[in-house]
Amino acid sequence: MTVKIGVIGTGAIGSDHARRINQVLSGGKITALHDFYPASAESTKTRFAADAEIFASGEELINSPSVDAVLVTTTGATHEAYVLAAIAAGKPCFCEKPLATTAAAAKRIVAAEIAGGQRLVQVGFMRRYDEGYVALKQAVQTQTGAPIMVHAAHRNPTVPTSYNTPMAIHDTLIHEIDVFRWLLDDDYVSAMVTFPRRAARSHAQLRDPQIVTLKTAKGVVINTEIFVNCHYGYDIQCEVVGEDGIAKLPDPMAVSMRLAAKLQSPILTDWKDRFVASYDVELQDFLRAAARGTASGPTAWDGYMAAIASDACVTAQENEGQAIAINCPPRPALYA
Ligand code: NAP
Repeated sequence: MTVKIGVIGTGAIGSDHARRINQVLSGGKITALHDFYPASAESTKTRFAADAEIFASGEELINSPSVDAVLVTTTGATHEAYVLAAIAAGKPCFCEKPLATTAAAAKRIVAAEIAGGQRLVQVGFMRRYDEGYVALKQAVQTQTGAPIMVHAAHRNPTVPTSYNTPMAIHDTLIHEIDVFRWLLDDDYVSAMVTFPRRAARSHAQLRDPQIVTLKTAKGVVINTEIFVNCHYGYDIQCEVVGEDGIAKLPDPMAVSMRLAAKLQSPILTDWKDRFVASYDVELQDFLRAAARGTASGPTAWDGYMAAIASDACVTAQENEGQAIAINCPPRPALYA
């Protein structure tokens, strides 16, 4: 079966997902596009989806018989309405991270999915599909003993001046928030933020860098540096310290060179390149499940748990040095 896919939001990642569904993956075809900015939908159609119909609204797209499943790849604050509409239409929905920008909005999505009685939502936490994280999780589960600490870093070369301090949590740390829950099979109990001096390349709306300390129910302490104007590259680091040893996320494969009296290897600069393979795997997983009328992978519950932790981290930013409690409700049966 070929799943007919409608994409809402054809910006950077929406158009790239349209490309991968039509050109890389199997089992899906882009039949419908919508974007607030019609030229963007036109451009995606021209480049990757010649047969797709362009819809005047996301709601019309969701309810069209030419759409079996939906990709929501608009800006975060607009996800909720489209995901709720997809659930109401009974159509599988892949929603880019964050599921919603507040825990209250994510909770409404969870409630709607539970009311419908079946899983329809997959959240775009693609790191769970990354070969490196999968290998790291296996090492943590089988070799390094019970985890005690995690040291991590999320570094971007630069961000635009529209990027502000809370976005370091909602847009950036949200990946770590989800992947550490998954990696450690644990939930969070508190968050604390510390700001070193502001880096010279930071800007008026942004306190950069920052260090977020999360504590889990099993007592693991996770320190993550977020440095989004680090200048030198896009660099994701993660090291888990266990009872018996340490496991480290592998760096992306790169040729190491001995040149001009230096030992050197390149570092990526574009986030699109760092997890390119995992985007393919996560969307193939979505297509396989959508063909059965359901969803796989990271759940709306995972999106909700990430949103609760993310809200606490933003409160922690506003109360530097204070531990902010994170209260996770019990997991409903649909997400067992
Ligand atoms: P983008 O380039 O700004 O694209 C978003 C597009 O959605 C824009 O064309 C925007 O139009 C359109 N849009 C905004 N609100 C809309 C609405 N209510 N209805 C229809 N169209 C709307 O952003 P992006 O980088 O692709 O990011 C999109 C989402 O993907 C975000 O949630 C982001 O966090 C996520 N993302 C995930 C990853 C990942 O690694 N998993 C990477 C990048 C992005 P206007 O420009 O006219 O507003």
